[in-house]
Amino acid sequence: KSFKELEIIDQLCETLEILKFHKPTPIQQASIPLALAGKDLIGLAETGSGKTAAFALPILQALYHSPHSTLFACILAPTRELAFQISEQTEAIGGSLGVKTCVIVGGMDMMPQAIALSKRPHIIVATPGRLLDHLENTKGFSLRSIKYLVMDEADRLLDLDFGPIIEKILKVLPPQRNTYLFSATMTDKVERLQRMSLTNPVRVAV
Ligand code: AMP
Repeated sequence: KSFKELEIIDQLCETLEILKFHKPTPIQQASIPLALAGKDLIGLAETGSGKTAAFALPILQALYHSPHSTLFACILAPTRELAFQISEQTEAIGGSLGVKTCVIVGGMDMMPQAIALSKRPHIIVATPGRLLDHLENTKGFSLRSIKYLVMDEADRLLDLDFGPIIEKILKVLPPQRNTYLFSATMTDKVERLQRMSLTNPVRVAV
């Protein structure tokens, strides 16, 4: 199926054509219809499979339908590099919607990040430690309004011992949200995180 046949809106389809995403990848074929139907997802997919667009497109499409939202989605990634890649790709795909993302990662000053957060981005892409630091120390910042949580490369997140930090973050997120967990492998730790954070998830593997 084409992106249009997966019921991606024309405005996003046009951008996908410009980016030369001519056809959905298998993980996109499998996850987009489920995500658009409101399901929580476990995506078993490697880097290079097109998993970023698989979770970004349904979020961007939902954002298109609620244009006045701020702090709409939070995406957790294990490394700075991955966080920046996700942010770049999400802004490229969502460019025509005017989507604003904000990258919150360690090893950089807190203050410019606090200012960026106060400018009301739609999507935060973060490494867990620094995100928790802002949740605890940046006045006025909360994730109470988010509608989507993504945990990308969950197996690596847990290998890096982000588990306890993610548990703390989960406690301050609204229970009424959609959650997408992507992982290259399904380990015991990932299953435990999955039980803690997803509601009746559907598993998609490619
Ligand atoms: P990812 O697995 O999300 O890291 O994506 C791997 C690469 O594939 C990225 O550089 C994307 O820009 C590209 N990509 C994702 N989806 C598509 C698609 N449907 N058609 C062509 N390229 C894609």
